[in-house]
Amino acid sequence: MNIHEYQAKEILKGYGVRIQEGIVADNPEKAAEAAKQLHAETGTDWYVVKAQIHAGGRGKGKVKETDSNGVVLAKSLDEVAPKAEKILGGTLVTHQTGPEGKLVNKVLIAQDVYYPGESEPKEYYLSILLDRATGCNVIMASTEGGMDIEEVAESTPEKIVKEWIDPAVGLQGFQARKVAFGLGLEGNAFKEMVKFIFSLYAAYEGTDSSMFEINPVLKTSDNKILAVDAKVNLDDNALYRHKDLAELRDLSEEDPLEVEAGKAGLNYVKLDGNVGCMVNGAGLAMATMDIIKLSGGDPANFLDVGGGANAKTVEAGFRIILKDPNVKAILINIFGGIVRCDRVANGVVEAYKNIGEINVPIIVRLQGTNAEEGAKIIEESGLKVSSAIVLKDAAERVKEVLA
Ligand code: GDP
Ligand code: MN
Repeated sequence: MNIHEYQAKEILKGYGVRIQEGIVADNPEKAAEAAKQLHAETGTDWYVVKAQIHAGGRGKGKVKETDSNGVVLAKSLDEVAPKAEKILGGTLVTHQTGPEGKLVNKVLIAQDVYYPGESEPKEYYLSILLDRATGCNVIMASTEGGMDIEEVAESTPEKIVKEWIDPAVGLQGFQARKVAFGLGLEGNAFKEMVKFIFSLYAAYEGTDSSMFEINPVLKTSDNKILAVDAKVNLDDNALYRHKDLAELRDLSEEDPLEVEAGKAGLNYVKLDGNVGCMVNGAGLAMATMDIIKLSGGDPANFLDVGGGANAKTVEAGFRIILKDPNVKAILINIFGGIVRCDRVANGVVEAYKNIGEINVPIIVRLQGTNAEEGAKIIEESGLKVSSAIVLKDAAERVKEVLA
């Protein structure tokens, strides 16, 4: 589960990680108040207004309606409200949102931490994530802060420092020092970075996260190390033991079809293609998506209705697939193991009748227990559903209806 920057920073602060302080606001008046309060708390006279959406690249991104960037500086209190106004309620498009962009409901009013001083402020990159190949957590750090790490990895991989942490032993002092050293830090900044890494790692473990990305981490002109940005990905499977974190979920940031599917207990992932599919079992669902590709289509979704598919789950799955305007055909591929094919067939027919007008062709492939009976039910239903027992036939039908 993703959370907003302002929520992530709040969590980090709780673990002793130094952050760029800020206050969240959902309208321009509150943004001005937030700036005033920030001035009282930190003494800052310069502010940053930051759009809160679940996507990166906000700094370079543009708000469609006003052409404002998603992260802008305000050099006085008076500038805060008008700059917030140009972002709030707008649609922010970044390289991570896709061309449709994301609606901005909140802005974070933060202190400008790039103030002048004895040295130039310097940006670094730091992330912690689970490396499934080694079963360890890995800390990745780079002197190329503010840049996309994928780009750094591609063009200058030697500029990325990696340190693997055995979860049974935990982060060791020498490892944090190695990372700080690898970033070329010395003196107070070095000590600060070691402390920063330790607190950050504690937060990562304490929240059962699967990814932390702090880009940039800033060395201020007076050698403090702090988090300017924070992308936190919490492990969904651990949320049951973090009720407080589970509440940070912002449904407006998620795909509405995925939210609806989640409520119906379906495992659905929206994709960009034109053939909707409904399958029982994740492995078969993957294979079905391959078949769709081979028949010249593109999967519109991943949908695993689970082992105990019944009329209700089939109907819920149907409704969700049909709400996707890109869908030109639906392929239902069910292997009757625990569930009997005749039951699924009845479910399909019933769902079809309940939903009413369905204009896209549906191909049903039933195999396994009572497959013949299932096919017969479909054939005799009089509905515009074609049935196949062999997967190759199903693929051929998909090809025909797309042609
Ligand atoms: P992202 O573009 O979504 O990754 O958002 P960030 O929070 O990383 O901010 C984007 C960029 O804005 C950063 O890389 C900084 O260069 C800049 N920025 C953020 N905070 C400040 C600040 O306090 N002062 C200045 N001058 N620039 C900032
Ligand atoms: Mn960033």
